[in-house]
Amino acid sequence: MTDNMPDLVFADCNGNIMEFPGLAMVGRSGDYFLPMTARETMALPEGSQLYVLPGRQPVGMDRETGEVVTLTENPYDGSSAVYAVAVFLPAAHTQTYLAAWKKNECAPELPLFAYTSVGWKEGFVTTAMRTDASNRQDPDMFHMDLVREGIRKWKSDLGSNRLVEHLSHCALTYGCPAALNLFQGREEGPLPTSPSCNASCVGCISKQPCDRPPSPQNRITFVPSPEEIAEVALRHIVSVENPVVSFGQGCEGEPLMVSDVIRDAISLIRKKTTEGTINLNTNASLPSKVAELADAGLDSMRISMNSPRKKTYDAYFRPSYGFDALMKSALEMKSRGRFVSLNLFVFPGVTDAPKEAEALHGFIEEAGVDMVQWRNLNLDPDVYLDMIGQQLPSGIGIRRLIEGVSVRRGYFNPYLGRK
Ligand code: SF4
Repeated sequence: MTDNMPDLVFADCNGNIMEFPGLAMVGRSGDYFLPMTARETMALPEGSQLYVLPGRQPVGMDRETGEVVTLTENPYDGSSAVYAVAVFLPAAHTQTYLAAWKKNECAPELPLFAYTSVGWKEGFVTTAMRTDASNRQDPDMFHMDLVREGIRKWKSDLGSNRLVEHLSHCALTYGCPAALNLFQGREEGPLPTSPSCNASCVGCISKQPCDRPPSPQNRITFVPSPEEIAEVALRHIVSVENPVVSFGQGCEGEPLMVSDVIRDAISLIRKKTTEGTINLNTNASLPSKVAELADAGLDSMRISMNSPRKKTYDAYFRPSYGFDALMKSALEMKSRGRFVSLNLFVFPGVTDAPKEAEALHGFIEEAGVDMVQWRNLNLDPDVYLDMIGQQLPSGIGIRRLIEGVSVRRGYFNPYLGRK
């Protein structure tokens, strides 16, 4: 009985995407293929992007036999070139299963996106859950005419501020939602500061070697002064409801590498206002610097990790620091009553593998984590699985993992109220 299973979706040689009712939708978790029922899917959220995957054929389930099979030719015209399709989800949505495909030998590495499963049931459906109700980065919240007007005003008022120039480039060239929000005067404002990093993530979004898929952003090339940072932060804080400003953006390295500048900027901000949440997105590699920033007035810290287990973490972050630094940094913040969240890169089949799930609960408890932000890992799944090189048993399910974690669930850095 497979009526409750969505149809497989595939693309033809011209990139036309269509459903094939003969095969049911299959999702992937690590190296495992699983048939998807409608209950595991949601309607494709607005802002999703559909990708046709080169050198990869779609995998589905034969509704008659229940067998998992690869679609090798177009069922409508018999042509041979058929391609797997995946969806890149919009912000605030977390993937629960990956797209399922069979890769041919000369398939190129996929660019730095997340490849989530997509099917068809009276419309496109996907395996995901909304993990944050905030419309902070909903596509219909961005209006480029307002952004351009905002940039014009910021440049005319703060013309010599190099950070304003950098962020206007981020807004207009990369379409960075944080920079778009800054110039529209809403939600969370970005404060990039660091050209360097003490890790070398395989999926780094600001720096990639020439023989790998390009990073979606380029790294900032200068360190702004504390005055330039405070100027941008204060202008955002005074003009926005429930303001958040965040160090550690996609267009920079690790902010702790320039923590002295950040410390002085926080002091300048806190001299002027007690409003706004000052947040640090970080790899949390330098606990003593985190302590200094907390003493200067840092309100919250978000620790980026692909895994709470050293072996899996080191394989991805390739850090020049010890894994135990993350726990120490969290405890420095908690011992001062500050807010700590995890920026967890979700990968079905790894994040919910029994050992990983157990370690996540342990880390949350020991560090006193307040919130988990369930983000999607943006990397070719086959590259990631080869890289971590662990035979992991099938996962408990991402949805079950998320629902089993008792601390605050989200996707964005929250406003924590006036100090
Ligand atoms: S910690 Fe951030 S900046 Fe550093 S390598 Fe990783 S993704 Fe890139």
